[in-house]
Amino acid sequence: MDNKISKEIYKEAKEYIPGGVNSPVRAFKSVGLDPIFIKEAKGSKIYDEDGNEYLDYICSWGPLILGHSNEYMLDGLEETIKKGTSYGIPTKIEVDMAKLIVDAYNSVDMIRMVNSGTEATMSALRVAKAYTKRNKIVKFEGCYHGHSDSLLVKSGSGAMTYGVATSPGVSEKIIEDTIVCKYNDIESIEEVFTKQGDEIAAVIVEPVAGNMGVVAGEKSFLKALRKLTKKHRSILIFDEVITGFRLAYGGAQEVYDIDADMTCFGKIIGGGMPVGAYGGKKEIMDMVSPVGDVYQAGTLSGNPLAMHMGYKTLNKLKGNKNIYKDIISKAKKLEKGFNDNINKLNLDITVNRINGMICLFFAKGPIKTYEDVIKSDTYKYGLYFKEMLKRNILLPPAQFEGLFLSSAHTDEDIEKTIKANYEALKTIYNK
Ligand SMILES: *Cc1c(COP(=O)(O)O)cnc(C)c1O
Repeated sequence: MDNKISKEIYKEAKEYIPGGVNSPVRAFKSVGLDPIFIKEAKGSKIYDEDGNEYLDYICSWGPLILGHSNEYMLDGLEETIKKGTSYGIPTKIEVDMAKLIVDAYNSVDMIRMVNSGTEATMSALRVAKAYTKRNKIVKFEGCYHGHSDSLLVKSGSGAMTYGVATSPGVSEKIIEDTIVCKYNDIESIEEVFTKQGDEIAAVIVEPVAGNMGVVAGEKSFLKALRKLTKKHRSILIFDEVITGFRLAYGGAQEVYDIDADMTCFGKIIGGGMPVGAYGGKKEIMDMVSPVGDVYQAGTLSGNPLAMHMGYKTLNKLKGNKNIYKDIISKAKKLEKGFNDNINKLNLDITVNRINGMICLFFAKGPIKTYEDVIKSDTYKYGLYFKEMLKRNILLPPAQFEGLFLSSAHTDEDIEKTIKANYEALKTIYNK
């Protein structure tokens, strides 16, 4: 595979952009390769500047549940652009969009649009702190909620640890109020609530963790969070930036039948445009300016192009629930194919899947916690990534990410992937 042009662009990119990329995972560092630069994409296929075609399992990290440059999605976009790209004054499509999300989620009475998932979680926490008049927040090891300071906290071992900043530049003061608990571990969260439940403003969680590979929250764990937060009058925030409109139309809250107090969205609700949103009960959302005193604003929030693409995506998903059935059946097919290969080759590799979210860990299962996840052989994953890339399949360039499927992925794509998976594993394990 020739990547001459990508390599040239990368060389120049590194002179002008830190690491040559605008988001770290794109640098392909954890798989030991130089990144490929993308020229265009269509359906389930993506093409680099060198003209190589890949079957894409990144799908922009989630937003493109209908695949790349979907005809239905593009239809009408040009007319929308011609009417102007931003006004900074209200538009009707913002209301239509808000109604769609509120209709889909039992627990969401009102919603505020922002520009990224990071902004959504950051703002939701501010509101939760103001509402409860408390300062502490709880997050879980291995859960990612964007890169705002108070959430950039590393996990530690032990039942519970006070955060150590994951990044220089995040002051100890800021993360003093962030408590880190173990994912899928009821005891660790019960301990924290017993000790300081009346200081905790909010518990934020990915109901299905999608940023340490794919690790589904156990129902008993999520139910325990619901019960504890209710008892101690803390706000339960579900970060559904990935799971929202992906696990099901009503997201994780539909699948688990649990209502959060606040919910964060992003990715799919922007249909490939920069978007985030946070919402919840009216009483809580009434805290937000200009109704309440909690300040939160955005020059481009509710941008008409983003709203157009998000609205189209949600409308399509709403009217075609078969899209979910179809994506789930493809994920199941991948799961079975991968497991057959792993068994045939007798390897310690674990496939985690919930609905349409799937991931392959280079570690022995079961994988339910962050501790389980980090046992994965990331070097082997790098080798696997390269072998799959050679076979024109583009996986997430890091072990701790899930595969993203779209309605554009065909049965043929899935079969090709299963076959490549067998060959790749056989090669790297010399079987
Ligand atoms: C992607 C993601 C975010 C951050 O969203 P950005 O738009 O990248 O800021 C937050 N939470 C979860 C669960 C995510 O997957």
